[in-house]
Amino acid sequence: MSAISAEDVNRLLPQTQCRQCGFSGCAAYAEAIASGQAPINRCAPGGAAGIERLAKLLGVPPRPLDPAYGREMPFAVARIRAADCIGCGWCVRVCPTDAIAGSPKRLHAVIEQRCTGCALCAPACPIDAVEFVETGTEWTPEDARRARAWFDGAQARDRRRRAAEELRLASRRTGAKGFSAADFMKDIQAIARGRRTKENS
Ligand code: SF4
Ligand code: SF4
Repeated sequence: MSAISAEDVNRLLPQTQCRQCGFSGCAAYAEAIASGQAPINRCAPGGAAGIERLAKLLGVPPRPLDPAYGREMPFAVARIRAADCIGCGWCVRVCPTDAIAGSPKRLHAVIEQRCTGCALCAPACPIDAVEFVETGTEWTPEDARRARAWFDGAQARDRRRRAAEELRLASRRTGAKGFSAADFMKDIQAIARGRRTKENS
């Protein structure tokens, strides 16, 4: 068991980032499984097949999905009812794969190919404008690989956004003399370049 890394476990998880397992995402649940802190039967999107794969990896017997953490459901993607959307953008902030497009006070829409069906956008919408539509397809390991790439991309963009915002606030706080808009942009670009290099290394 000790030879199994969290990454080994994470590769077998569905990457919907739905949090039904009670963790902040697939990577956190993988960490807990690999360190023996959580059992293998809490991922409803992975279902019985996912539990089977985890059991094989860890060399333990499979067990049924714990109903306290959800149940297996047909795969469904989110759709925003155009007539109801008020353009608040709250759904955008919680979407783990940047699958929702729209600008403030305008209609928002789900890019279905990017949607993992995690359902985090539904409770975020203040007027219940999100519904779910079954696709009639299964969520496959290939879907999981794609979703992980989108999730990683969204996380990286979020980190860059936050770094730029911190820099902007810091420059305001210091009110540094001679800190021009051009200097500000140079700093942001340097941070972004540094992070890109780190992410690609
Ligand atoms: S897909 Fe499974 S492991 Fe990932 S967050 Fe959802 S329940 Fe947890
Ligand atoms: S659109 Fe909604 S259901 Fe689809 S990935 Fe984003 S938050 Fe999850």
